[in-house]
Amino acid sequence: MHTRKYGGVSQTRIASIMQCMFPYKQFAEAEAETSKKAAEVEHILVAATSTSRCVPADGNTHQGMPQWTQSERQKFQAVLLQCSCWEVDYANEFIKSTKCGMQTSNPDSICDACLVVSLDDSLLHAIRKVRLCIVVLSY
Ligand SMILES: [Zn+2]
Repeated sequence: MHTRKYGGVSQTRIASIMQCMFPYKQFAEAEAETSKKAAEVEHILVAATSTSRCVPADGNTHQGMPQWTQSERQKFQAVLLQCSCWEVDYANEFIKSTKCGMQTSNPDSICDACLVVSLDDSLLHAIRKVRLCIVVLSY
């Protein structure tokens, strides 16, 4: 399984998505407060939103993602992917647009979606932040 990071999604938005998807988990008070308004918007976007505070059969009450069930992690990653502009595939060492069609006839082999993402402020900020040498590739 490849490790992926989804880019262009703020920590506040990630927190609000978590709240929407898993209302049965008791997230930290500060986190809940900052994402309260954003969470209302996320209800529209998150199809898997549950309003029940009952823990489902494929869930648990752990707050930390490493302790979530596999089902919870998969659902969360699917929603995050929908909200992301770009993703990092660490295993294969590339970044691509989440809208990448994985094929292009462009001479440089970088599709239009990935070209746009290569200029995205959130990506450039992330690159500067981690100070990694990253090559934007496409198929
Ligand atoms: Zn692409």
